[in-house]
Amino acid sequence: MADPFDAVVGQDRAVAQLRAAAAHPVHAYLLVGPPGSGKRAAAAAFAAAMLCGDRGCGDCSICAHVLAGVHPDVVMVERTGAAILVDEAREIARLAARSPVEGDRKVLVLTDFHLVDRAAPALLKTIEEPSASTVFVILADYLPPELVTIASRCVVIEFGAVSDESVAAVLVRDGVAPDVAQRVATASNGNIARARLLVADAGFAGRQELWAAVPTRLDGHGATVAALADDLMASIEGVLEPVKVRQAAEVERLDAQAKEQGGRVRKKDLEDRHRREQRRARMDELRAGLAVLSRSYRDRLATGSDGPASAMSLDAIRKTREALLNNPNETLLLQAMLVRLSESQRQ
Ligand SMILES: [Zn+2]
Repeated sequence: MADPFDAVVGQDRAVAQLRAAAAHPVHAYLLVGPPGSGKRAAAAAFAAAMLCGDRGCGDCSICAHVLAGVHPDVVMVERTGAAILVDEAREIARLAARSPVEGDRKVLVLTDFHLVDRAAPALLKTIEEPSASTVFVILADYLPPELVTIASRCVVIEFGAVSDESVAAVLVRDGVAPDVAQRVATASNGNIARARLLVADAGFAGRQELWAAVPTRLDGHGATVAALADDLMASIEGVLEPVKVRQAAEVERLDAQAKEQGGRVRKKDLEDRHRREQRRARMDELRAGLAVLSRSYRDRLATGSDGPASAMSLDAIRKTREALLNNPNETLLLQAMLVRLSESQRQ
């Protein structure tokens, strides 16, 4: 039997808490931890454990539909813009008041709640007084001041950053060669789903080389910056190939199961989820590329050849990584960063 919590790596304590909570859940849980720490996979496994008659067996159609994001009683609420809007808070309240479709419980997964911003007061009321059948599972990368009051009404479950070693160990257990496992784990930022994707990704090494070569390609010319930004953005698209292969396999599997066991796959929900997954895969790829670039400049700093320039470049990369958490326009951020790198090298 496949345990849905197997998709969560290196979070033994959080997983144990969620497993224990699934039998008699309270009305709200807040899962806090850095991007890639497995909060989404944990939320899906937790929802399966709450809805499946067998505590999340991983094999029945309830589990399959929850894990694929197409179960009618597990609603994943995603923000549409850079922050969560008051309108979106109203929509959450409306969803929370709805009765479950299939069973006696409904799970609302609220994502990116570190971006709750001004919608927090409107949401507080909903989360404090949900309908008896609703369980909130709120995800946040960190706990900003606006989220503190909401957090005080939830059971808070903390997710730590997952080490490269834990990811590599899981890959080796999957049957991946140790050297490949190590390389892929380093680029996965502790995210096992991404690591598993990269193992099957023929373009991965080439994309890493492209990022590592950025410092040598920059020559102080604006045209070079523009060309480099285009190359990097185009290379990021390469990560979508294995994502699409995996998504097609998932559609096939769900269709086959629906044929065998009856029922209907909610195609629109599945397509929405797949689109979001593709977007996240691109962002993960960009973050991994920035990490490679940082290493490049750290190496230059270590050799002492262009100390001040490399230090300024590292600072620009760090600021870009921070800005990515709240700014969805990665193309603009990347271009602005390359301009700064190019300038600091010219000095
Ligand atoms: Zn099940």
